[in-house]
Amino acid sequence: MKVLKFGGTSVGSVKSILSLKEIVETEARTQPVVVVVSALDGITDKLLATSQMALKGDEKWREEFDAIVTRHHQMIDTVITDSQKRVDLFNKVDALFDQLKSIYYGVFLIHDLSEKTQDAIVSYGERLSSNIVATLVKNGVRMNSRDFIRTERKNGQHKLDSELTATLIRESFASLRQPQKNNTIYVVPGFIARDRDSHETTNLGRGGSDYTAAIIAATLDAEILEIWTDVDGFMTADPKVIKSAYTINELSYIEAMELCNFGAKVIYPPTIYPVCVKNIPIRVKNTFNPEHPGTLIKDKIDDDNKPIKGISSIKGTTLITVTGLSMVGVIGVNRRIFTTLANKGISVFMVSQASSENSTSIGVRDEDSEAAVEVLNEEFAKEIETGAMFPMQAENGRATIAIVGENMKHTPGIAGKLFGTLGRSGISVIACAQGASETNISFVVDGKFLRKSLNVLHDSFFLSEYKVLNIFICGIGTVGGMLLEQIRTQQQFLMQSRRLKLNVVGISDVDNFVLDRDGIDLDNYEKILRAGFAANTNHMRDEIVKMNIFNSVFVDCTASKQIASLYQTFLEHNISVVAANKIAASSDYDSYLKLKQTARDRGVWFRYETNVGAGLPIIGTINDLCNSGDKILKIEAILSGTLNFIFNEIAGDVPFSETVRRAKEQRYSEPDPRIDLSGTDVIRKLVILTREAGYKVEQTDVEKHLFVPDDFFEGSLDDFWKRLPELDADFEKRRKVLESENKRWRFVATMEVNSDEPTTFKTSVALKEVPYGHPFYGLEGSNNIVLLTTERYKEYPMLIQGYGAGAAVTAAGVFANIMSIANI
Ligand code: ADP
Ligand code: ASP
Ligand code: MG
Repeated sequence: MKVLKFGGTSVGSVKSILSLKEIVETEARTQPVVVVVSALDGITDKLLATSQMALKGDEKWREEFDAIVTRHHQMIDTVITDSQKRVDLFNKVDALFDQLKSIYYGVFLIHDLSEKTQDAIVSYGERLSSNIVATLVKNGVRMNSRDFIRTERKNGQHKLDSELTATLIRESFASLRQPQKNNTIYVVPGFIARDRDSHETTNLGRGGSDYTAAIIAATLDAEILEIWTDVDGFMTADPKVIKSAYTINELSYIEAMELCNFGAKVIYPPTIYPVCVKNIPIRVKNTFNPEHPGTLIKDKIDDDNKPIKGISSIKGTTLITVTGLSMVGVIGVNRRIFTTLANKGISVFMVSQASSENSTSIGVRDEDSEAAVEVLNEEFAKEIETGAMFPMQAENGRATIAIVGENMKHTPGIAGKLFGTLGRSGISVIACAQGASETNISFVVDGKFLRKSLNVLHDSFFLSEYKVLNIFICGIGTVGGMLLEQIRTQQQFLMQSRRLKLNVVGISDVDNFVLDRDGIDLDNYEKILRAGFAANTNHMRDEIVKMNIFNSVFVDCTASKQIASLYQTFLEHNISVVAANKIAASSDYDSYLKLKQTARDRGVWFRYETNVGAGLPIIGTINDLCNSGDKILKIEAILSGTLNFIFNEIAGDVPFSETVRRAKEQRYSEPDPRIDLSGTDVIRKLVILTREAGYKVEQTDVEKHLFVPDDFFEGSLDDFWKRLPELDADFEKRRKVLESENKRWRFVATMEVNSDEPTTFKTSVALKEVPYGHPFYGLEGSNNIVLLTTERYKEYPMLIQGYGAGAAVTAAGVFANIMSIANI
């Protein structure tokens, strides 16, 4: 015999209720079946809200009531096809609606809503739905659960009277033991009950239909209890919060109980105990996807070696701290705390006490916090007066999270990983608790960090089938645009082969910015961007920080000083930064150092490999050399793809001004080519390399030997283009001489440690004439080259050479930086 429970969504729509019919009728062909049903999805909330309206004298209660009636009428009209059955059912439900309307009217007239009346009102949801289901299914017989589910009043709450209930269930279902006539399907309204003494209608608490089903299954020794709901079983976390949550195939009773107690709403917590005692398995299944096997909950499960099975959480918790300087000497503090709270009917779901014994923190629901503080202050009034203890401190709006798994007890380092992961994400833990059973670690965080904590933990404990990296891309010019394209084409591959999901959650350009934590569709991002916010750097910064999204990286593909000024804030909020923009790393030394230090302190990354040599591994190589104890003695480099392109292009028929124009057209140069021609770009790069080599340098320290007179840089960009041809004749004269001497122009950046005083060094940029045979002579196109002379690479310097500019290689370099963050 089986007990099947169908939740609100399973009876809430035509599609789902027809699926229910199919499922139970199939089961009933082979065995007796008891079906427990909830009210139609959302009806319980509506019944309660309408009663509040009536209480406040709000006439709108009538409209709300009518809507409830219409919803049920429409359902009956659509699913009950037999006209006689439909008429009978309409008579039954309309009789119930008449009663309900009278109760509401009474509440409305006398402005009074007692708990008894409220309980009566809320019972109609299940009474209605069970009538519909009993008529819909073949051979359905409706049972009245108030005849056999009995409660008693304890600490101001309705608690199940298990013994009486068991006896009454056995009596009511006696016929179930008889040989089956016509494959009867017993349909039971869940949730509702009757007080054993007053015989008033009561209930088992919100979500209580699961419990009704468990009580019946346990009493009748069912072979299995099936909980049919709207998701594919018990999942690693609430799928409505964690997109990557997935079904857990098997759970032990203990694991399921821990997860439910900490907010996994999929099963009402008291449900598990009665079936666990009888060793009856529970299967959680999806009414909308019956083929899916769902989750099996039972005593012993096959070991899957996963230390953590799932994560659950409770929103709206208050942490009450009972503390005092001399609390150590006060006897029985904990006994008094718990007795006081129990007497008031307040449930405590977490306790944490430091071994110094001078404070105990307890977690209660926000709605219980005021009463809890009041009764505790009363209980300890004497100690508070003498100063042995402080008045209770309550912190509202917190969230409690639990990670659960029976294998935790065999796996060292889980707590370390848990708190390390939270710390790196900038989430501070306010209190924590782990029982000696080691199946659950619970902790309290500020409510605003709930979503982020769940995501980051789900990711780091490999509960997710893939890791997620959330990316903001700022600037979609040549590099940013190409990067987005590269991400778009690689997304699928990385997801499949590396189990990494690159989720672009923000895009901005000069006009607009758009943010979406679910990820922006990269096939359509231009259109989405146009519909976004108007560009505003501070607004964007604030929105990104407010999003508070886990495992995230801000990618700067602009050349903007304003954007570079945001990095510090982002790093402080545990958002890594990948910059193609050179401004930050070449800005004043102290700011550069502070950015690196902040990243280190926060456990995130500030990466800018493409600042020098686009995709070439120059910064990384210098870092590796220095980290392994080498010392950089000299850097000689051609670092401007633009300038190299210009001096390779220049020829008898291609004057200097034309080469500059071509560099711009072919997108080698910075958007403003004066940055290249004034040496600024090369100086910035040299400053970055020198700093990475371990030396403190500012841009102003670099000696400059330029080739365009200073006054060319003074006016507007237009003036500059107009004046540029004035230089052509001079260049051509010198070019002819060079050609005859078999030499070439190269704009060279140099850093050299003084050999007589190795703590000092000199940096310079200069247009040099290099002879045939020099490694720089044959450097083609826009390529870059770097010669590193170090203590280990002295006689034969290390040489790194290749494309030093261009959107594709730069974007690929940025992509590589992003991937290096994703892989940690
Ligand atoms: P029903 O009406 O069928 O009783 P509930 O809304 O009470 O359904 O419970 C199902 C919901 O529980 C799911 O839609 C899901 O959002 C939520 N939920 C929370 N935690 C979990 C979890 N770990 N696994 C599955 N669902 C969960
Ligand atoms: N209908 C009740 C509620 O919404 C009971 C249940 O669905 O389990 O809480
Ligand atoms: Mg439920």
